This record gives sequence, structure tokens and C-alpha cells, in this order.
Amino acid sequence: MHSSLQKALITSTFALVAGCMSAKTPKEIVPEQTLSIRVCDQAQVPNAVLRLTTAEADRLFRTAKLRILWRQPSAESPEDRGTDMTSAAFFRQPDRRSYLVVRLLRGTPATVFPGALGYALPFARRGAHVVIFYDRVETLTQRVNIPAYVILGHALAHEIAHVLLGSSQHATGGLIAAQWTPANWRLASAGLLAFRREEIEGIRAGLRRFQFPEPIRNRELAMASSAASQ
Ligand SMILES: [Zn+2]
Repeated sequence: MHSSLQKALITSTFALVAGCMSAKTPKEIVPEQTLSIRVCDQAQVPNAVLRLTTAEADRLFRTAKLRILWRQPSAESPEDRGTDMTSAAFFRQPDRRSYLVVRLLRGTPATVFPGALGYALPFARRGAHVVIFYDRVETLTQRVNIPAYVILGHALAHEIAHVLLGSSQHATGGLIAAQWTPANWRLASAGLLAFRREEIEGIRAGLRRFQFPEPIRNRELAMASSAASQ
């Protein structure tokens, strides 16, 4: 009798735990998505800084369940050259590339986007989607006394988010804020800045532009071959 009571207690305890687990599961399952990013480093950023920077950006995008595959194309890659500055999406073919391109530069003239660490071209069809002025990152590093990888990692996350959101609009605070004060950078350094819920939803929706180019190509090929056979 005693042992069957014990057994019943164990069974009900297990059922309770299992019940709690199954009650939580439906809300928590958000599939991880992957984004390929090509980094054209024309600023000769030290390897250690680059490694920590990508880890910092990885951490920031993890809240959106986004896993980034970082690649560095060869020096002669076509992604190193040319910039599509058109900002409007009207009458344009979509970007058929299955990856996003980041270019890191030095020697930025003071007249180019004064005060900005970089800019995003959400609708670029060739060249870079994101350009970062690494010389300004270094200057800011000294001014606010925060490691370069923290500044570069957050600047990258900010500009990459613009591309995925398909917008150059800013929020009043957080990672998509337009103006970053030394106080913002201290929060960033402490790991206290994060994407907001609506930004995460937009980022995940924007990933589709960089993840499903292949079916479009296949459909076009099918259309081309059917046109040729007529
Ligand atoms: Zn911005």
C-alpha cells in the first residue's frame, strides 16, 4: 500500500512537471534563422577586434533567433567595388543575392555623413548594403573609452537592422536610436542594449529577402525555357 502511494505521488509529480513543460512549450518555440554576411574589410581591422566584433553582433541578434554566418570574400571580390546608392525601392528588381554585404573603410572625408559611424543601403543590388567608417570607430573608442569591438559590433547591428527592416527610420532609444551619447555607449559596453520586440519581428520578416532567392531564379529559368520552346 505504502509503495503504491509512493508510486502514485511520483507519477503525479512527474505529470505536474510535464504539464508545466508542455504548457510553456508553444510560446517558446521560435525557429532559428540563418543570415550570411560577407565582410569586405578594406580598413585592415585587427583580426582580434574583428573576431570580438562578430561575437558582439552575434549576441545582439541572438534575441531575434538569428544566427549569422560571417564570411570574408577574397580581396578581388566584386563586392569590394561599387556602391548602389539608390535609396528607393520603386521600379526596382529585388536584390537577388542570398547574403548581405558589409564594407569597412578608413580615410573617411569629414564631409561624408558628418558624425556618422556608417550608413545602410537597404535596397542596394550590388556592392555593400552596409558601410562602416572604421577610422571614426577608432576615434570614438578613444573619446568614450570603450573597446572598438563594442562600438563596431553595435554599429554593425544598427546598420544591418536598417537593411533587414528595409528602412532608415530610427527609434527614440535602444539599438535603432539615431543619436548615441556617451551614456548610450556605456549601456552598450555593459551589454544592456537590445532590439525591441517590434524590431525583432521586422528583422525576422526582412530575412526573407536574403534567404529565398533560389526559387525565384528557378521560376525565371522555367519561364525562360518555356518561352524558348514556344
Ligand atoms: Zn541609423
